Amino acid sequence: MVKRQRLTKKKKDALERWSIDDASELYGISHWGQNLFTINDDGHVALLGSGNTPDIDLKELITEIRARGLNTPVVIRFTDILKARLKEISNAFTAAFREHSYNGDYLGVYPIKVNQHRHILEDIVEFGHEFNFGLEAGSKPELLLAIAYQNNPDAIITCNGFKDREYIEAALRARQCGHNIFIIIERPDEINSIIEIARSLDVQPQLGIRMKLASKGKGLWEGSGGANSKFGLTTSQMVEAIRTLKRRKMLPCLQLLHYHIGSQITDIQRIKSALREATAFYAEIIALGAPLAYIDVGGGLAVDYDGSHTNFTSSSNYGILEYASDVVGSITSICDEENIKHPAIITECGRAMTAHHSMLVVEAVASGGIDSRSIRVPKVPAKAPEVLQRIKDSYEWLSPKNFQEVYNDAVESRKEAMTLFNFRHLSLIDRAKVEDFFWIICRRIVKYAQKLDYTPEDLDGITALASTLYYCNFSIFQSVPDHWAIKQLFPIMPLQRLNEKPEVEAVLADITCDSDGVIDQFVDLRDVKETIALHPLKSNENYDIGIFLVGAYQAILGDLHNLFGDTTVVHVSTNDKGYIIDRTIEGDKIKDVLGYVEFNSEDVLIMLREQLEKAIANEKITSEESAEFMRLSESMLDGHTYLNRI
Ligand SMILES: *Cc1c(COP(=O)(O)O)cnc(C)c1O
Repeated sequence: MVKRQRLTKKKKDALERWSIDDASELYGISHWGQNLFTINDDGHVALLGSGNTPDIDLKELITEIRARGLNTPVVIRFTDILKARLKEISNAFTAAFREHSYNGDYLGVYPIKVNQHRHILEDIVEFGHEFNFGLEAGSKPELLLAIAYQNNPDAIITCNGFKDREYIEAALRARQCGHNIFIIIERPDEINSIIEIARSLDVQPQLGIRMKLASKGKGLWEGSGGANSKFGLTTSQMVEAIRTLKRRKMLPCLQLLHYHIGSQITDIQRIKSALREATAFYAEIIALGAPLAYIDVGGGLAVDYDGSHTNFTSSSNYGILEYASDVVGSITSICDEENIKHPAIITECGRAMTAHHSMLVVEAVASGGIDSRSIRVPKVPAKAPEVLQRIKDSYEWLSPKNFQEVYNDAVESRKEAMTLFNFRHLSLIDRAKVEDFFWIICRRIVKYAQKLDYTPEDLDGITALASTLYYCNFSIFQSVPDHWAIKQLFPIMPLQRLNEKPEVEAVLADITCDSDGVIDQFVDLRDVKETIALHPLKSNENYDIGIFLVGAYQAILGDLHNLFGDTTVVHVSTNDKGYIIDRTIEGDKIKDVLGYVEFNSEDVLIMLREQLEKAIANEKITSEESAEFMRLSESMLDGHTYLNRI
């Protein structure tokens, strides 16, 4: 009885010391989730309502989704966020036009490659109609989608990427049908084909030209710009192209100048220097006789994934308003100086349009690895081996003043214990004790180190070393491939218990069999964290973790590693009463993913049945058992690829 009371009091103290403000600070939600997400009084993450819509409790939402028989991992798409982002981008240009007394149009286009799913494309065409948002295609399939789905004659379609005869012909025929479509010359050898096909179809094309700028982006995608970039014409190729067009009497078709210096340009200075170079090109090309009327500044508008508002690769040191103002300001100043008519401004910002509107919810199903909290201080008998005595002494000596030194000693002792064990001079039991001391020491050191403003270099990696693995029911390769491929950071936090102090330093492991399937880098305002603080799992609770801002690129780059398929997707919109689940797209079933790799599930069942017949003939199983096994296999094929709840 006494013990129980003490526990309750301790818990109460912990609760008093920890508030949702601490949680907000720890996970940075007020920085990266600005105007979109917050923590409510129940300690749950909530979607912030706007004027007439209430906040939406995401934990309640996911409970509702489960009640419908759907399971995590699930992608939740907030269509209102998508709508709001389109509006925000468009409004930013309207404001910038006013600020700089600009007389041109703003024509945003959505690069389809960012997320090709039908509902997103449909939403963008629908929500973007009032702002004349168009589409950008980079391949034949995307071109067909752009032509088929764009129903607004005032919106434009830009055609980028490698082009063959079919691609060019389809774009020209779409022009014939009245689409406001531009073919962007990306490489010199496209020019002659375009001219030839246009002549044979008797279509006057609208042409654009992509230049290679010397200015380029910096960071994870910097290869997209600069002299070595895959696309675009060098200065001399550009001069040559203009001569060719002039000679073939096609120069009047050249109306658009395009560049794209890469995705996620985190530093506004890069954007400005590219603009300076591009606007100089624009003026020069007009001087050479081309009737340019559009300038397409490509994509690259960065998303502040970590909320730090810096030029770090997962951040951005500018906002949409500043971006729009700089784009419009640079173009205005050169046009006014040179007395050139203000062109229509095209942007191809994909990431900034879609990233915010999707989140992934995964469930932590188990924790493991080294859980140093549950390790007890081992008993060390007087006659214990020297190495064990030594690490015990280190443990007893450990204090906030000497922890770096003690850490080095502990590492040495642990190494020595391994060697002694390998040469059979240390028993399994004693080796276990040495390791237990080591982890307890690490845990204490992590606590001390957290109080410092910096992590001493010697201790780099210790937090991760002493962390607990939280196994989550999802595949990084399918759902957040950029974390695996290029270590891009996404904001991550638990959706519940945020009024409770999270005391476990964890890294997230997915359920693929790949050791790369871990998330061990987390957003932080000043640095990158190696662990995320989480709560101990409870057997009677779904511990849900949100991975936010995954609406750009992740869905389509995801792959079938280990044959984990698409997750379920739920579309949610809000109204004055709360939320509505508009649409549910069930994730891949096992038979679907087998089909992707050419297996027919019927054949799999036939082969299985043959094996069972043999087993019956050999009296290993009964007919009834074979029936059970067949039923199980059929139901598995019809089920999802992720784990069901046990
Ligand atoms: C990928 C791409 C974009 C989109 O870039 P974001 O960083 O998503 O804005 C725009 N234009 C071209 C040519 C691209 O290849």
